[in-house]
Amino acid sequence: MPSGKTHDRITAWGLPMVAAATFGAFRDPAITLALTGGFAAGGFFLSPDLDIHSVPYKRWGPLRWIWLPYRKMFRHRSPWTHGVLIGTTVRVAYFMVWVAAAVAVAGAVAALLAGGGGDGAGQEAIATVITMAQWLWRQPLLWGVAAGLELGALSHVTADFLFSKVRRRKAKTKKKPAKRRGRRSQWSYYGNYKPALRSKKRYRRRPKPRSKVPKRRRYF
Ligand SMILES: [Zn+2]
Repeated sequence: MPSGKTHDRITAWGLPMVAAATFGAFRDPAITLALTGGFAAGGFFLSPDLDIHSVPYKRWGPLRWIWLPYRKMFRHRSPWTHGVLIGTTVRVAYFMVWVAAAVAVAGAVAALLAGGGGDGAGQEAIATVITMAQWLWRQPLLWGVAAGLELGALSHVTADFLFSKVRRRKAKTKKKPAKRRGRRSQWSYYGNYKPALRSKKRYRRRPKPRSKVPKRRRYF
């Protein structure tokens, strides 16, 4: 798979293209901003590679630990992180759980500070989360941002796919000389038994060079 730097570069180069295409299609600066912002966030922050210790993971800085359970939950490049639509959906849902938790705590603390008891704090926490969810749902550009996030993830997954394809092709061409050398892997038909197919000559060592003095200097 490409390195984090390559993925960043792809996102950075994709940004103007996404912006131009969105503006060309909708002629609306707000939608363009939402979609392009989503694309940047999807590439730089909500990247599929949050499932390993990666550049986007480190980019979260002091908050990076919120992605540790995510890393534990999913194998690298599993369909739950790198799948089309599924990856972004799972990541956004996972992130929203943390946001909801933070909002709930803030609501509870506010209620406690205002002088309510323990019960009031719990109710306030739930109420703040519901208010936040309703506010978020009412945002007119929500789907623009969501489309941008998915597009950012899609560019990542496409790059992953293309790079691994190239690598597989390289590995195929590299295998040939290994075969000619007559090495048999232990998974071959013969197992660990090596049939004597070749003469012993081939296995004889080369004679050692007599002196370490380079040839052309020997005659001086
Ligand atoms: Zn990846």
